[in-house]
Amino acid sequence: MSVENKVFRLRSCIAIVHRGQIVEFFDSNLRVGFSIEQSYPEIIGLLHRFDGSLTVSSISALYPEIFIHELCALALFLQEKYALIEVNDPYSQSDVDSRPRLINTLESYFHSTSEVKKAISQGSKTSVLIIGLGAVGSWVLHCLIKAGVQNITVMDDDVVEVSNLHRQDLFFEADIGKPKATTARDNIRHSYGIGIKAICKKMESVEDLGSLPDTQNLIINCADFPSVDKTSRIVSDFCLKNKTPHIIGGGYNLHLTLIGQVVIPGLTACFHCFDQVLTPTNAADLFGVKKLNRKTRKIGSIGPVCGVSASITATEAIKVIFGAPLQFLAVVNKRVEFNLSNFDFGAFAVSRNTVCKYCSNDTV
Ligand SMILES: [Zn+2]
Repeated sequence: MSVENKVFRLRSCIAIVHRGQIVEFFDSNLRVGFSIEQSYPEIIGLLHRFDGSLTVSSISALYPEIFIHELCALALFLQEKYALIEVNDPYSQSDVDSRPRLINTLESYFHSTSEVKKAISQGSKTSVLIIGLGAVGSWVLHCLIKAGVQNITVMDDDVVEVSNLHRQDLFFEADIGKPKATTARDNIRHSYGIGIKAICKKMESVEDLGSLPDTQNLIINCADFPSVDKTSRIVSDFCLKNKTPHIIGGGYNLHLTLIGQVVIPGLTACFHCFDQVLTPTNAADLFGVKKLNRKTRKIGSIGPVCGVSASITATEAIKVIFGAPLQFLAVVNKRVEFNLSNFDFGAFAVSRNTVCKYCSNDTV
């Protein structure tokens, strides 16, 4: 379709300020903006004509002093900058009513309403596996359900314990002693009317993942037994072989929390790319450290800190599930850590090793 016949709308998060020769476009979602030089005195009124109802040629007819090719170029430029979105397939009223925030978020990643609708449709069907329903996994699961992801499988062999309740979502006192996987499934069905699949099993090998009945489009590893390192290694081996996007390495260490890294096989740093860089760094950090005077490390972190890690992991998962372009993924090619004592987020960049024998394009 020619640009003249297209319909555009200013995204709802965009504010416009006209100062002298400069027009500023401010994205209120992100508090960032850009500006263009424009001296046309009626530019603000003209821009507000992009309301999702008029074609570019219809707007041009209202402003005969503007050349149509200039208006087309402006529309395309503003679309490219995510200020305008092309309205080529209107949303259903039920989607607008039930998912306003998801639509608002997805419009930040796509250039047309048809792409947003396709993302919503595909995202609701995307098959997601969450391994481990502890402090992070249970929160991630709840976030994804609330975002409208419905095709979810959870895998965990633990039962709910009283010590879990202060930091784990979806479990209550009445659930103590019950399997976490089926309890989460039942509580979600009771609260939301959504059915998820529950597997009461511990993931111990690549074969455990290969034997699952469904093909998974995203695997999120939140299992920390016997260690996050070991479970992430299994998930990585399976996912690199099957080219499955996955999130690994998340967890917490008392007052620090590590945000799970997103891995898109062949495009971003994999578990082994991280391992090659971080193992020597961690060894140097821990050199000479004496064993702590405590019988167990399994006391868990305080609930809200687990929630920080889980919320960020879920946000990244939602981007992957709904097909956001790679440039919008935030926890790729870096290790991100949150510090409870000062609320600092630290990021340590880890580039993809182009000759990594595990994730190079030759091997995946
Ligand atoms: Zn790699």
